[in-house]
Amino acid sequence: MANQEPDVFYESVQKYFDIAAAHTGLPEGLLAQIKVCNAVYRMHFPVQIGNEVKVIEAYRVQHSHHRSPTKGGIRYSNHVNQEEVMALATLMTYKCAIVDVPFGGAKGGVKINPWEYTPQQLEKITRRYTTELIRLNLIGPGIDVPAPDYGTGPREMSWIYDTYRSIHVDDINAAGCVTGKPENQNGIRGRTEATGRGVFYGIREACSFADDMKKLGLTVGTQGKTMVVQGLGNVGSYSASIGQDEGGMVLVGVSEVEGAIYKKSGIDIHDLLKFRKETGSILKYPGAKSFPKERRREVLEFECDILIPAALENQIDKENAPRIKAKIIAEAANGPVTAEAQTILVEGGHMIIPDLYLNAGGVTVSYFEWLKNLSHMRFGRMDKRFNQQTNTNIINLVEELTGKKATEEQRRVIARGADEIDLVRSGLEETMIVAYHQIREIKMRKRSIKDLRTAAFVSAINKIASDYGSLGIWP
Ligand code: GLU
Repeated sequence: MANQEPDVFYESVQKYFDIAAAHTGLPEGLLAQIKVCNAVYRMHFPVQIGNEVKVIEAYRVQHSHHRSPTKGGIRYSNHVNQEEVMALATLMTYKCAIVDVPFGGAKGGVKINPWEYTPQQLEKITRRYTTELIRLNLIGPGIDVPAPDYGTGPREMSWIYDTYRSIHVDDINAAGCVTGKPENQNGIRGRTEATGRGVFYGIREACSFADDMKKLGLTVGTQGKTMVVQGLGNVGSYSASIGQDEGGMVLVGVSEVEGAIYKKSGIDIHDLLKFRKETGSILKYPGAKSFPKERRREVLEFECDILIPAALENQIDKENAPRIKAKIIAEAANGPVTAEAQTILVEGGHMIIPDLYLNAGGVTVSYFEWLKNLSHMRFGRMDKRFNQQTNTNIINLVEELTGKKATEEQRRVIARGADEIDLVRSGLEETMIVAYHQIREIKMRKRSIKDLRTAAFVSAINKIASDYGSLGIWP
């Protein structure tokens, strides 16, 4: 069993910070201010469920006010506790800094098992929690902007938006109070896949450096690389399907709550998702070896090039770390590797692509959604037709000058103007590429920095420190 003690996660995050902070040369007081959680709110509120009144425990932590609004998802899980939410909020601050998303970090948590409630009951709990946030001035497009996380999705975000809007009737920016909303309710195309898509772009970038791949004994590029994915929720399933469809990666193992499967020759992710929908389980997937629930963690230790933990924190600890065979551990989840495990893995020559960079695609597209909400206009609306016409003019001119005709298909591909989804994907791709290069550059520049996580923390801390400007970083 993974180490589930609540404070292991928060301690790991703080430890990573301290290791990186030592490389920055920044004043101690400033580092202390960057490190602490600025505000921690715990609330209890009653909700009537059937004939019973249930007291619900919930949190909102705003880790850093160096930028406004603060930003981060809301988690619904029985394991929610104060330190878990603090750890997640802390990671949000660094995550936003790494990908240049101008928010402070925050996170919310409601201590419930969402699968035990009906949609009506969940709506009641979500609206009540939102009312609490409104009452305490903890939500608003310029204050703090929640989003989905484990156990929540577009449906919950639409309830939050509706609750906020019904109270702030004169706020024309109300839609920007929460992101990850359904597309037809002021959401943005591509938000649901964003974290998984970002995970793929991050892996692809990491695999594009010949020197780094050589050290790991791997070839350059993602094509043909085997992957094991832990968790088939939103992030895991999109990481796997985009990795397979766009990167030519081969899924060989999957672990879920009901157990795990492994198939050396490869599992088609779309087929597996369909199979799970029909049978309610991944077990007994044709041609794959099945492992019961109690042995599901073993799949993390199986032979593969890239291990993608996409479930919860503390999954790789000092106990199973020495047995991990994957050359690359791609942290799609938040905090899947404990600090002790990280030391073992780095010393063992594995590459860890850290969570605070790798899963930042979600908040990146949340940022695009928030901008869309504040601008009250869909991306692409102003320029799509104009670009299409310009491109058509260019094709016509080339045809005229060369005397050759483009095919209908060539015309369609070249002349097309960008839709919202094209712009979101290209903005996300650019963001993930630029951030990876910044992190790798820090690692290459400082020989004493041995891993990408420390480099990512250094990148984040330096950016936040420069935002604090007046707080003593001047000579
Ligand atoms: N919950 C997601 C995360 O951990 C998304 C946060 C957001 O979009 O604000 O990054």
